[in-house]
Amino acid sequence: MAFSSKVVLVTGASSGIGAATARLLAGRGATLALAGRRADNLQRVASECAEAGRGQPLLTITGDLTREPDAERLVEQSVQKYGRLDVLVNCAGILELGSVETTSLQQYDRLMGINVRAVYHLTMLAVPHLVAAQGNIVNVSSVNGIRAFPNLLAYNMSKAALDHMTRCLALELAPHQVRVNAVNPGVTVTELQKRGGLDEAAYEQFLERSRTTHALGRPGQPDEVAAAIAFLASDEAAFITGASLPVDGGRHAMCPR
Ligand code: NDP
Repeated sequence: MAFSSKVVLVTGASSGIGAATARLLAGRGATLALAGRRADNLQRVASECAEAGRGQPLLTITGDLTREPDAERLVEQSVQKYGRLDVLVNCAGILELGSVETTSLQQYDRLMGINVRAVYHLTMLAVPHLVAAQGNIVNVSSVNGIRAFPNLLAYNMSKAALDHMTRCLALELAPHQVRVNAVNPGVTVTELQKRGGLDEAAYEQFLERSRTTHALGRPGQPDEVAAAIAFLASDEAAFITGASLPVDGGRHAMCPR
C-alpha cells in the first residue's frame, strides 16, 4: 500500500494511460483526484478505481485544461477536499500528425496548448502544495521527446519541451525535496493515434508496424506505462529526479543499420 495517505492528482484520467494509472494507484491505496474532459468516461474510471481501492475517497473533476479557470478549479477543488497534494501526474495530451509543410499554426498552438502550456500552468498551481507535502511530479512525455521522427513535428517538439521542463523543474524544486520525473512511452495501445487522425485500418497497420519499430517486437499496454509512473511517484524512487524513463520496448535505443 505504497500510496496510502498520499493524495494524487491524475490528468487525462478519463482514458488510456491516465485511466490505467488511476486504477493502479487506487489499488495501492492512493486518495485520488481524477481529471478529464469526457464526464461519462471519467465516471466509469472512477467506478473501476473504487472497485480496485480500499474505500478511500475519490474526486472527479471535468474540464478542459487549456482553459485557465478549469485548471485553477482542478487544483482548488482537490486541495479543498483533501487538504494536501502529494503527487501530480501530468498525463493529459493530444497527438496530431504533420510536418513543417502541413502543420498549421492553429494545430501547433493546439498541441502546445495542452501538451506544454497546460502542464506549465497546472504545475505552477500545484507547486506550493507539492512543496508543503514534499511530494513529486510525473510528466507523461514520449519517446518522441528524446528521439526524432518525421511527420509529427509539433508533437515531437511539445514532448521535447516537456522533457526539458522536467529536468529544469527538478533542479528548481530539489531544494524543497520535491522530485520531478517523466516517463517516455513508445507506442501504447490507447485512443491517442485514432483521435489524432488515424482511421481503424491505418491504426491496425500502425500497430502491426510497431512490431518492427520496437525492439521487444510489440507496442506497449497502458498498464505497463502506469507501472513506471507509479514507481517514479513512489518513495521507492526517492533518489530519482530529473529523469526521463523510456517505457518503449527499447525503441529509443534503436538505430537503422
Ligand atoms: P488518450 O487519447 O487515450 O487519452 C488522452 C487523455 O488526455 C484523455 O483523458 C483526454 O481527456 C485528456 N485530454 C486531452 N486534451 C485535454 C484537454 N484539453 N483538457 C483536459 N484533458 C485533456 O491517449 P493516451 O492515454 O495515450 O495519452 C496520454 C498521454 O500519453 C499523452 O500525453 C500522450 O502524448 C502520451 N503518450 C501516449 C503514447 C501512445 O502511443 N498512446 C505514446 C507516448 C506518449 P478526454 O478523453 O476526457 O477528452
